[in-house]
Order: sequence, then structure tokens, then C-alpha cells
Amino acid sequence: MKGKILTYDSERKMFQLEADVYEGGGGQPADRIRVAGPQFSIESRTTVKSKEDGNVFWVIEKQEGDVVKGDVDVFIDELWRLEVSQQHTAQHIFSALAEDLYGWPSEGFSIFDDDSKIELLGADDDMTKYEQLEKRVNEVIAERIPVHIYEGDGTEHLRKPTKVLHPRIVDIEGIDKCACGGTHVQNTADIGGFALLKVERKNTRYVRVIFASGLRLGRIAKKYVTKEQQLKNILSGDIKERIQQILDQKRQLEYDKKNLLEMIKQYISESSQVRWQNLPLDMQSMKQIASYCGEIEKNIVLINEEGYFAIAGPDSDTYFQELREQGANGGGKGVITGKIPLSNG
Ligand SMILES: [Zn+2]
Repeated sequence: MKGKILTYDSERKMFQLEADVYEGGGGQPADRIRVAGPQFSIESRTTVKSKEDGNVFWVIEKQEGDVVKGDVDVFIDELWRLEVSQQHTAQHIFSALAEDLYGWPSEGFSIFDDDSKIELLGADDDMTKYEQLEKRVNEVIAERIPVHIYEGDGTEHLRKPTKVLHPRIVDIEGIDKCACGGTHVQNTADIGGFALLKVERKNTRYVRVIFASGLRLGRIAKKYVTKEQQLKNILSGDIKERIQQILDQKRQLEYDKKNLLEMIKQYISESSQVRWQNLPLDMQSMKQIASYCGEIEKNIVLINEEGYFAIAGPDSDTYFQELREQGANGGGKGVITGKIPLSNG
């Protein structure tokens, strides 16, 4: 396709382009384009709209050579254009059906790189309704319904009212009629398929629906199959079974730890030794043992490998003072806890 670079801002890495490309808007991202001049090539996939005059600027993502204003060749990433058109057309069908079947108007709509979002006003949490909607959208896809685009004369009954005198109308025969400036497929069959990925309540008024259609369904499937294979490799075996085994092992280890701690507690509390150092215990376990010693009026000073300590017993303040003189800090009632700096060998 032929086009023209109208302006080029080398500092901000942006340019204005005159060509038959989609510049984004209405929840739909821009085309992904490559622009080639005699001595240069640039790639862009995002646009920004000037707040002052509404001019659209393409943001340069990749550049080779020095950009010169004037005539250029423009190449569109056709697969991305199709993918976005599939999402957009699916959204028309879904929104029309949600309104017809359940009286839920669509408000927020956005197409992202991997999925799309629709916000339904007044929607409820009955999942069977969403399953029904998903099925109906796929039926409309299978019915091969043509999508017409034409200029309206203001007499059409549209799903959403518009103030534009001659709106660009997207008409999916018998399903939806809506003013829209985005890109769409020519026949519902071109959407390929539709899946609701997530239904979540946004607030008391809105339910947010995440969906995907067409080309990206394959990409999503591939991503999860790869992920599952990686998990299988890490866990070496059936994922569900292995996770259950690991959870069982964890439960057993927790039980063993509890019993061992009980043994250590008995051993320490019955010993005449007061100071215990380099213990392979965490703070919680030391506190538990110290607290028990405190209850039976036994002096105890427990210090673990990292220098954390727990002190209890009738003379705990004296023992704490000794540690403070070695640079420890901490405090507490009943059981005194804190940390002592470890000598660097
Ligand atoms: Zn549209």
C-alpha cells in the first residue's frame, strides 16, 4: 500500500502517516505496521492522539536508516489485523446477545495483546447464563452471517444511540447493528471460535468478562500446553497426582516437626543447661520452648544459628542484660526475644 509520512519528530521518535491503516480507538489497538522509504524502514504498533488537535502520531519501535518525509510503502501485519478484527466482531455479537437475552448492556470494551474485556452493566452471577451466551456466540459464528458496513442516514435502530448524523454502521444481519469505526471480519465464520476465559464481578453494578476469539485461541492453547509440559517435567509425573503427594508429604513433615519439637522441649526443659547456642530452630519454635520453661520457672537462653534468641525464666532480665552488653537488641514480656550480632569468625 502507498502512503505518505507527513511529519517526523526525531526526538520523540514519532511520525504522522497518511495511509489506509487503522490508527486505534474505541477499545481497539492500532494496526502493526512497517513503513519503508527509499533509504529507511520503521516499525510501529502504537499510536498517541494529541489532546490539543486530535492528530494521531505513530510511535517508532524499530528504525533503520534516516527517516525522510514523503511517499512511502506501508505494510500491515495482516494476521494481527485479522486477529483484532475477530475479537472486535465477536464483541459485537456477544454484546448484542447479552442485551437481547438478559438485558445486560455492554459498556467498557478493550482488546489487549492476549485477551479482551467487556463490562456488563447489571449482570448477575448465574454461570449458566454465561455458558449459554458463549454457546450462542459460537452458533452465530457457525451460521456464517455476513457483516455489512455502510454509512447510515440516521433512521437505523442502533444498539447504542449515536449523535453522529451519518454514522459508519456495522450490521451483522439479524444480530447486531451498531455505529463503530473499528475493523471487523466480513463474515461471522471468519471469527473461527469464541471462548469466555473469565467472568468476575467488578463491583455491585458491573461484571467483567474476559474472552478470546479466533487466531489467539490457538496461541493461548499452546501457551498452556507448554506450561503444563514444563510443570510435568519439574514434578516428573501427573501434575494433579504429584501435587497431592507433595501436599501429603508436607502434612507429614509438619506432623514430624511438631513431634520433634515436643521432644526437644522436654529435653531442654529437663536439662540443667541454661545457655543453648547455634540451635537449628526458628524463632517460633524457640519462643514455644522458652515459654514452656518460663511456665516451669526454669531459666533458659536459646540462640539460633542466625543469632536470634528467646529468653525466659525468673532471671531472664539478667541474661538479657548480658546479651545486651554483647550488642544484642530486643525486648518483650514473659519471653524476651531479639537478635545478637554474630561475630564474623
Ligand atoms: Zn466494531
